[in-house]
This record gives sequence, C-alpha cells and structure tokens, in this order.
Amino acid sequence: MKYDVIVAGGGWGGCAAALEAAVQGASVVLLERTDMLPGTGLAGGIMRNNGRFTAAEEMDALGAGALFALTDSISRHKNIDFPGHRHAWLYDVGKVSGVLERTLAESGVHIVYGSRIIKAEMDKERLKAVISAEGTRYEGKVFVDATGTAGPMGECARYGNGCAACVLRCPVFGGRVSLCGLAGVKEKAGRREDGGTGAMSGSCKLMKESLSAGIQKELEEAGAALVPVPDSLREDHLSAKACQQYALPEFARQLVLLDTGHAKLMAPWYPLRKLRCIPGMENARFEDPYAGGKGNSIRFLAMAPRENTLQVKERPNLFCAGEKAGPMVGHTEAIVTGTLAGFNAVRRLRGKSLLTLPGSLACGDIIACAGEALEQEQVVGKYTFSGSAYWERMQRMGLYTTSREEVEKRVEEAGLTGIFAEK
Ligand SMILES: Cc1cc2nc3c(=O)[nH]c(=O)nc-3n(C[C@H](O)[C@H](O)[C@H](O)COP(=O)(O)OP(=O)(O)OC[C@H]3O[C@@H](n4cnc5c(N)ncnc54)[C@H](O)[C@@H]3O)c2cc1C
Repeated sequence: MKYDVIVAGGGWGGCAAALEAAVQGASVVLLERTDMLPGTGLAGGIMRNNGRFTAAEEMDALGAGALFALTDSISRHKNIDFPGHRHAWLYDVGKVSGVLERTLAESGVHIVYGSRIIKAEMDKERLKAVISAEGTRYEGKVFVDATGTAGPMGECARYGNGCAACVLRCPVFGGRVSLCGLAGVKEKAGRREDGGTGAMSGSCKLMKESLSAGIQKELEEAGAALVPVPDSLREDHLSAKACQQYALPEFARQLVLLDTGHAKLMAPWYPLRKLRCIPGMENARFEDPYAGGKGNSIRFLAMAPRENTLQVKERPNLFCAGEKAGPMVGHTEAIVTGTLAGFNAVRRLRGKSLLTLPGSLACGDIIACAGEALEQEQVVGKYTFSGSAYWERMQRMGLYTTSREEVEKRVEEAGLTGIFAEK
C-alpha cells in the first residue's frame, strides 16, 4: 500500500498530524496498534486549563481549531477551577474515541487499527516503508512518528511498580515500538529529579459508581470534588508524576477528583486499602489503570532529537509529534506538535520550506524550550502550558492571555492567520 504520509501512532499527536496532512491534501494512513484512538487521551480529558486555553485559541487562529472544537463539543464540564488550575474543560473520555474516529475518517484519513509497526525499510537516511506485525507493508514518501513514550511492560516493571494494566493494553496488542528507533535514531529518556528514568503517569480513573452518593453528586454538578484525606493517610509520591503541574501540597491534603466520565483521581496511584479508609471512598475501585492501587504507566522513555520544525535530525522525511517530540505533557501539547508535524510533512513532500512557529506564540515557544531541553545531556523537567516551570514562563513572558482578540493580533502579526487551513 502506498501513501504520501504515513503516521505511526494514533494518540493525540498522531491524530493531529494525520488530520493536518489530510487537510493539506495528502493521502494519509494512520497506523494504530490498538483498536482505539487517541492513546493516553483515552485516560485523560483535561483541556484549556491555565495556559492551555491560550494555546487552544492560538491553534484556532492558526487554522487548526478542529480538534479543540471536537473536545469542546464533548465536554462534560466547562470553565471549572480546581487547585492551581483555572478555566478547565473536561472532555468525556467515554465518547472521545468514536467521535474522533469519525472526524478523521470524514477528513479522508485512512485509519488502520491493529497495525503495530515493527520494521522499517531505509534508503540511506530516508525511510521508504514500514511493516506491521502481521506483515503488511506500507510505502510512504514522508513519515510521522507519534508512537508516544510510554511502556512497554518491561520498562514499566523496570522503572515503575510493574505493568499497571493501563489503557495502552500492551499484553493484548503488543508494546510500543518507536519508528525513530527502527529508523536508527538514537532516542533519549527523561530523567526524574532523583536521577531515575522516565516519569510515572499522574492520574488514575475510579469507577464513579463505586464512590459515595455525595461525591458522585458533587462531581456531576460541579465537575470537581475535593475529598479531605485524614493526616494518618497522606501519601507522598507526588514527585514521581509526569504531570508536575499537579505535584502541589493541595493534592496531598485532599483527593482531587474530576469528572471526565469516570472520576479522575489526581494521583499517580493510591493504595486501595488506604483509599477505602477515606470517608466516601469505602467501596472505591480503579477503572484505569486497573492496578492503580499499586502503580501507573511509565512515560518519557524515548524522545527523538529534532529541529523546531519537528523534522527528526538527520532523517529528512521523518517528523515527530506528541511526547516523541520532547518532554511536553498533555493533549493540547500533542495536538500542537502533531499539527505542525503533519503540516511540515506535506511541505517536505511538496519541496517547500518548513515552518517554525515563532516565539511570540506560546505554541512556538514551548516547542523551542522543549527542543533546548532535548539538547541537554540529561533531560530533566517537563513542559506543559498548564503548570510548573513552563506555565510560570508563559506568564512571565506575557504569553498567557484569555483574550481572543489578543491571540488573533499576535497570530496576525506573525503573518500566520489561518496558515494550517490553507492548502
Ligand atoms: C493516565 C493519563 C492521564 C492523562 N491525563 C491528561 C489530561 O487530563 N490532560 C492532558 O492534557 N494530558 C493528560 N495526559 C497526558 C497526555 O495524555 C499525553 O501527554 C499526550 O496525550 C500524549 O500523546 P501522544 O500522541 O504523544 O502519545 P500516546 O497518547 O502515548 O499515543 C501513542 C500511540 O501510539 C501507538 N503506538 C505505539 N507504538 C506503535 C507502533 N509501533 N505502531 C503503531 N502504533 C503504535 C499507541 O498504541 C498509542 O495509541 C495523561 C496521560 C496519562 C497516561
């Protein structure tokens, strides 16, 4: 089978890359090893919190607002605040997969599920074709690696507390395989502050029905519930999280629960026996990962060296998106990098110069900052519009705004209004 653009991995990064390449008129195949989109986005849901609001508006002004319109359209709660976070929107994780699949298919993206890429054919430094585990060969002109950085099981055992039976479902579909790795690119793993490798995913899903009626009501009505944790039960494992934006004391004193369809517990794991000692949680059960009483998946194990155009270094027809493109955490961040990777993949196909987003836009600035971090010997720290160091930088640099007019002005001054929608 032959395509202009082949995207490996159907998380938010790969979905955005495939959609943008299709919008640009290329023939596109999206190869996903499981039976659902969008990867870890099946377990997430938080959008537009803090600086992610600015980034979503920037993307819309740049002409790539479709995926934000999609998550907005299936949001269970809009504009809610929780500790350290303002104006969050929570999409329904139960609906996202089907809605997203239809949107991509209607845009002309050919989605092939159950296609785990395990081999690459090269012509010197150029990729020619990829081959899936069941033996299908896909020939392409340009490729995007959006296979993420999580797992597989051996890595979760080595750097975490074992396979936590998460939504990536490695035992059934086979573990993550990096396209960059298959193309001979030397990738980098992130480091934790204590020198450990990778980072543990930062939230769990609880079965809403297993919680007290009072907590369920609060979640349904307000979108968030804060459940006090008795002193004797306080856990201190927040620093292990990939999502440093939630490693705040408020998240240890109380359980922060968000309604994304399930009850999203903002902790990397929580021992079930302790959880059930907290009033209202006596019957609590984990939904994702199933072993959330013990651990969670390990991520940031394989990031690719790349330019700020998201072309992988020394691989002219290979681009990268999402967590593969550096230590950036989040759906919004993956959609930003995915869109740019898909756009530049088609520019490469047509022999045009590649686009770098300018530092006057938060979307350009975060890609440059994460790119600098990737150049360091040790990649410590994570970048997200929603918290920790990059969120502080966004505010310091005056990049954060909730004003649509201001965002439009910045994009216009950069000469990029609607660029992602233009063919
Ligand atoms: C539990 C959890 C909760 C989260 N909650 C939030 C949240 O609320 N809000 C937020 O903004 N962010 C959240 N995040 C972070 C966010 O989900 C990620 O940073 C982002 O979505 C990563 O997208 P990605 O496309 O880079 O990778 P992934 O989501 O990891 O997707 C990679 C995809 O590639 C596929 N794949 C891997 N190898 C191959 C192969 N060889 N061939 C074919 N396919 C392959 C995988 O099956 C997977 O679908 C959460 C993360 C986790 C784990």
